[in-house]
Amino acid sequence: MVDVHSAEQRSRNMAAIRSKNTSPEIRVRSALHALGFRFRLHKKGLPGKPDIVLQKHRTAIFVHGCFWHSHECRYGAVTPATRPQFWADKRYDTILRDERKSQALRDLGWRVITVWECETKNPEALRLMLVQKMNEVEKLEPAQKRRATNDPKRIKATDATGRGHQALDEEAR
Ligand SMILES: [Zn+2]
Repeated sequence: MVDVHSAEQRSRNMAAIRSKNTSPEIRVRSALHALGFRFRLHKKGLPGKPDIVLQKHRTAIFVHGCFWHSHECRYGAVTPATRPQFWADKRYDTILRDERKSQALRDLGWRVITVWECETKNPEALRLMLVQKMNEVEKLEPAQKRRATNDPKRIKATDATGRGHQALDEEAR
């Protein structure tokens, strides 16, 4: 096929492709933003410095590369031809570290969502997945908030509907 593009046209095309070809994390951020969620990035002071933090929902999001974090997908199943044991060990360490980070966050009453790189390739599928996960978070929210706060105003505000839970919480203490 004859290349009909001038050098200038081609470089413009490449720039357009590059700007569309954003990193998985940026794709997740844009999707959340479009859905109206507000968040912070790489918040310090939280275990594991999550990629995206939805403070209001007490939810931390990690965006994981499929290879490095050993996703059960075709990208995660790749075995490097050279030094396979070295990479296997490295990736195993990453899995353990991911588990430790998530557990530490859960222990503090945070919800943890993992988004895999392969799940960010289709914008509509990504959007639907985030809607579903955030719906689950919102369903769990009231109980988590009560556990996570000692703010008397908030406890009072939930008193009418949350008395039963509150009593249970107090028994547990
Ligand atoms: Zn994957």
